[in-house]
Amino acid sequence: MSIRLEGINKYFGQFQALKDISLDIPDGQLTGLLGPSGSGKTTLLRIIAGLETAEQGRILFHDQDVTALHVRERRVGFVFQHYALFRHMTVAQNIAFGLEVLPRAERPAAAQIRRQVADLLDMVQLAHLGKRYPSQLSGGQKQRIALARALAMQPQILLLDEPFGALDAKVRKDLRRWLRALHDELHFTSVFVTHDQEEALELSDRVVVMSAGKIEQVDHPQALYAEPESRFVFDFLGHVNVLDGTLRDQRVVQGEAWVTLPGDLHCAGEVQLYLRPHEVRLQDCPAGHAHLPLQIESISLIGAEVRLELTPCGWQAQEPWEVGISHVEFNRWQPQRGDRCYAVPDVGHLFDVQRSHPRTLSWVDG
Ligand code: ADP
Ligand code: MG
Repeated sequence: MSIRLEGINKYFGQFQALKDISLDIPDGQLTGLLGPSGSGKTTLLRIIAGLETAEQGRILFHDQDVTALHVRERRVGFVFQHYALFRHMTVAQNIAFGLEVLPRAERPAAAQIRRQVADLLDMVQLAHLGKRYPSQLSGGQKQRIALARALAMQPQILLLDEPFGALDAKVRKDLRRWLRALHDELHFTSVFVTHDQEEALELSDRVVVMSAGKIEQVDHPQALYAEPESRFVFDFLGHVNVLDGTLRDQRVVQGEAWVTLPGDLHCAGEVQLYLRPHEVRLQDCPAGHAHLPLQIESISLIGAEVRLELTPCGWQAQEPWEVGISHVEFNRWQPQRGDRCYAVPDVGHLFDVQRSHPRTLSWVDG
């Protein structure tokens, strides 16, 4: 079931929480709504569900206008951050609840409900917990039960609002993978809210980045990361190293730092060169196209690569630079805190005052 939002505006009193949101959510995809706290993600999700109404705009499911339909008639499944399981009911009773309260004409027979609950418990891999109460479950288990309960109604649209937000990192990661696999198996249309970039990029087919009630960019994770269209998206999707400088004769200069840009740019003035941690190499002497002296401030050995935090020498940056190097390279080079080195960009992104979109630059041949 595809979802189409057209010109959605939502106010809370004087405050405009959503500003002219139009969005197509394709059938069968897992779409991530990503943005900082307060950007309007939950409000948008509640409007799709029918739990909240917009002052302006239309919502279509497939090609049916559901704008005026009550939440019950929209038949969407909803999972919140806080489990919201009924405490006085067992796990099986929780899952069966939505079916039990259906009007008699629609309600499956008792034996049928029992079968469906058993199937759902299997699906969320908690068949052995049907008789337990929510208080006897871990956070991750509760969220899987909440999902089973939402799926009991056989929704074609599943809405999840930071469903793993309250869980610890390891459990989150497992549940993410598990949700992705379940989505691929069942083929519903899912919209997933998160403020965690990694979670959005790992889990989603497409990511909608929101900021202050507006959509900043909609793209596939890879495209979003490789070609952010605005400074906001750039900054929000992980650390970025910035050289603020003046561009003249193909060269960005600030203090002792300079970088010669590839190609013919035909622009001049104040610019920012954005470089992701993996787009920069470190070496003990400057390269032909870049002079970016840095001093190593800290070294973090945890993770797949070694992360170095560096501060500029003879120029300035608002935030320290970060560069990742492989453990193999680290062992060969053996850098120490306080050592001086030079950053060499391979790829970069240039913002200037004339354009809101950055230009992507490459110093690597081919
Ligand atoms: P997010 O989920 O991205 O953190 P929300 O959609 O919850 O953001 O909120 C967006 C903005 O709308 C916030 O500034 C929030 O304070 C405001 N807001 C949300 N719900 C209400 C409400 N019921 N009444 C007043 N303001 C609200
Ligand atoms: Mg929210």
